[in-house]
Amino acid sequence: MKRISDTFIGRNADIKQHILALCAKDGEFSIADLSKACNISIPTITKILNELHDAGMIEERGKFSSAGGRKPSIFGLNPEAGYFVGIDVFRDSISLAVMDFAGKVIETRADIPFVFEGSRNSCNAISRVIREHLLESGIELRKVRCYGFALPGRVNHVTGFSFSFFIDDHTPISKVLEEELNAPVTVENDSRAMTFGEYVAGVGEGEQHVLFMNVGWGLGMGVIIEGKVLYGKSGFSGEFGHFPILDNDRICRCGKRGCLETGASGSALYRIVEGKLKEGRSSMLSEKYNSGKEITLEDIFVAIESEDVLAIEAIEEVGSTLGKGLAGLINVFNPELVVIGGILGRAKDYLYMPIMGSINKYSLKLVSKDTTVKFSKLGTMTGGIGACMLAQARYFEME
Ligand SMILES: [Zn+2]
Repeated sequence: MKRISDTFIGRNADIKQHILALCAKDGEFSIADLSKACNISIPTITKILNELHDAGMIEERGKFSSAGGRKPSIFGLNPEAGYFVGIDVFRDSISLAVMDFAGKVIETRADIPFVFEGSRNSCNAISRVIREHLLESGIELRKVRCYGFALPGRVNHVTGFSFSFFIDDHTPISKVLEEELNAPVTVENDSRAMTFGEYVAGVGEGEQHVLFMNVGWGLGMGVIIEGKVLYGKSGFSGEFGHFPILDNDRICRCGKRGCLETGASGSALYRIVEGKLKEGRSSMLSEKYNSGKEITLEDIFVAIESEDVLAIEAIEEVGSTLGKGLAGLINVFNPELVVIGGILGRAKDYLYMPIMGSINKYSLKLVSKDTTVKFSKLGTMTGGIGACMLAQARYFEME
């Protein structure tokens, strides 16, 4: 992947990259601050800043107000120097977010219908859809510095391989997308991208120990320990949905049985509702079900929001099972914050109490009293915004 350091050659290339990364992380600096942060003399920093300014990458943002004396100028990234684009890939749609060069989210688009498959043709098709939406939003494609993709399943962000969208043994999906989009591409597991987005721009701001639950069709997790995202040896950490905790005989989509996901996910909600309808229980969904039409998750959400008792019982069952899993995690990690995100977060009013009931029942009081449970602030855009931020972080080579 092309990074910011590839842009500069010769003397001071590393310092330029470092200055831009500092500005991306912390926003604004005076020359004196930068001189101290980089351990470089003020005349040299001034010269480098002038070069970055001439290259259009940074801008002067006026003066710091200070009591008496000369007021120092402050510098920050020039928002118009480029864009970062994040794409979250769902089962049958994608969402898209755009950030300016200085890190402000300037455009979000949710629920763009698209079914992504692991093939070259599908990479070509998704790139076309992305380009169309960017052009519609007035984004100049040549100014996109990096694209970030949040993909379900196991992803190795270093090599660019996704094991859900597999081309062949020698070709990472990120490379095919780079060729199609004609710009650097970074890929990340969707739950981890969501964790990153929520941590930086959502409810997780400032917390150091955070667990993020991606309760979608499946169940994924992102972990932040001491302010850092946990990856594991190969980037596969967080497969909480496949924790073998349930005493049931249901085969999980991973092929094993007893996985938490078979009781705590969108697919579990769907199965529970379908089971109750099959038993002949009455619900506002009965008519559609009995006429042989397929019930969708959207139908179930509408039923929950219309206070349909059968649908509410089903979401409560999911919440109580999820809470049991969370109780175990809280005992292990002692987090200060657990964030519930993903598509099921939409039913938060009905999920919260069953989740808390199970946490109180199954966790150690001494540990769980430290933990707050909140729902995602960014909703369906969490992964897209997180992917944007990861694209920015990897472009600037930030930690
Ligand atoms: Zn499983």
